[in-house]
Amino acid sequence: MLDLLNLPGVRPVDLQSSQGVITIVAEVLETSLPACPECGKPLYRHGHRKIAFADTPQQMQPVRLEIDRPRYRCDACRKTLTLDLPFLDERRRATRRLVDAIRERCLGTTFRGLAEQTGLAVNTIKNIAQDLIEELEKTVRYETPVIMGIDELNLAGGYRCIITNLATNSVFNMLEERTKAHMKPFFRDLPDREKVEWVCTDMWRPFKESYGPYLPNARLVIDKFHVVRMASDALEEERKKHQATLDRNERLKVKKSIRWLTLKRPSSLSPQEQEALKLVRTGIPLLAEAYDFKEAFYGIYDEPDKVSAMRAFEAWENTLPQERFPKFHALARTVHNNYEDIFAYWDAPTRLTNAYTEGLNGLVKVANRMGRGYSYEIIRAKTLYAKHARKVGSMPRPGEGITSVPTTAPQSQIEYGPHIPTLIELSDAGDLG
Ligand SMILES: [Zn+2]
Repeated sequence: MLDLLNLPGVRPVDLQSSQGVITIVAEVLETSLPACPECGKPLYRHGHRKIAFADTPQQMQPVRLEIDRPRYRCDACRKTLTLDLPFLDERRRATRRLVDAIRERCLGTTFRGLAEQTGLAVNTIKNIAQDLIEELEKTVRYETPVIMGIDELNLAGGYRCIITNLATNSVFNMLEERTKAHMKPFFRDLPDREKVEWVCTDMWRPFKESYGPYLPNARLVIDKFHVVRMASDALEEERKKHQATLDRNERLKVKKSIRWLTLKRPSSLSPQEQEALKLVRTGIPLLAEAYDFKEAFYGIYDEPDKVSAMRAFEAWENTLPQERFPKFHALARTVHNNYEDIFAYWDAPTRLTNAYTEGLNGLVKVANRMGRGYSYEIIRAKTLYAKHARKVGSMPRPGEGITSVPTTAPQSQIEYGPHIPTLIELSDAGDLG
């Protein structure tokens, strides 16, 4: 029989295919009688035992490998034993090459799918993945970002803290909770923490209070999108107030037609929408006024430098009518309360935002689709160690440039973490879950 197994020390003697599973029976090639691993005396034969192991699939079918293993006995030690076969992972009841193949794929596909392909139990796949994750946790290290984004993500049943490298658009780390108790030890133990020069977050105070004591050179920029979103919220408040004065039919019409019209930026309005906006102007002047305040607030961020931006904000605040638009007034107070950190936007070397992190919300959908069986830890590992996304943007270590021997060893690369746009592409294509 042709040796389609290609495993050292065994020889296939039978092959059957039934109900979508290939069963290969193999026998152990015996040479001379081995010595007892305990005392060194010669062993003698003591029957057989057939044990089944999963092997790598063939012809797209799971392979069940039944190995007829000789048992031995040592008279001196009074022990019966089976000799190790180096290609077997006894704990997983699988060949090592199958375990390797699963490790290669388990963070990029579903455990259920791998279980179906290999004939192993979902739990075995999960255990192999857990071992891999523990190893990755100890061995993979991403370069500490010079420009760091800190944001939140509602993932696998809770708000997680996601830390990104904004210069390379990659995920740096993910923390289980965005509480100070979780974040402080992370920043305290962060290698090269003096390297962080800029941090971009929203206005959630625990972020600043957590990294503040540990990142001595970091300056905060409050994320632009979290700031301007408040202007949109203030406009929404005025739209709802207007709707409340209408009857049901009119109300629905306003909600459907005016909501997106007024939330969009004017530059992205179609000619028809621009006409519709003119009608809103003449028909609902109060809403139009709120719209103009929203737009003027967004306009602050179009200013070319810090001084002009501060002036634009001052002018905006000074024209707010005293008795109206309470949410715009609240926004003005928020800007004053975070003044330095908001206007630091114009001091940073590039226009920093966490816009890409927001794109990771797509991962949330993937996580939900994957459904039960995926803990936060596994989703975190699938995100943080996704192989295809990790390759993008990694660089050879200094002195190991193009002239050196090509290697795939991760140690020889400076890694920045998985590239967010690539992660998003993978999750959209369904390749991540
Ligand atoms: Zn012995």
